[in-house]
Amino acid sequence: MIANYGYRDGSGEYYVTIDTALCVECVGRWCVEACPERLFEIEMDDYDDEVVAIAPTARKLLKERCAGCKPTGGHVGLPCISACRPGAISHSW
Ligand code: SF4
Ligand code: SF4
Repeated sequence: MIANYGYRDGSGEYYVTIDTALCVECVGRWCVEACPERLFEIEMDDYDDEVVAIAPTARKLLKERCAGCKPTGGHVGLPCISACRPGAISHSW
């Protein structure tokens, strides 16, 4: 399943997308340790498989919570995306 977490406001769209089908097979859960804001949580999906989701308390605050990884001058690589070897994570901004 493609899961989108985030929101849009007057300044743009702020979504983290996770391909949870890749999380089911993931042996490392590297995203959980890589994110300095601890935004990734392991949860059970509707099929009782372990997948990763963005922490509910952070879903409406992604622009602020990810700001440390995304300086206004631009960024090269993000810890979460770099850590996720299966390539399950993308960001909309
Ligand atoms: S590292 Fe990637 S594939 Fe593994 S649990 Fe995290 S998001 Fe899913
Ligand atoms: S950009 Fe940084 S703070 Fe945002 S989810 Fe990725 S690792 Fe975590």
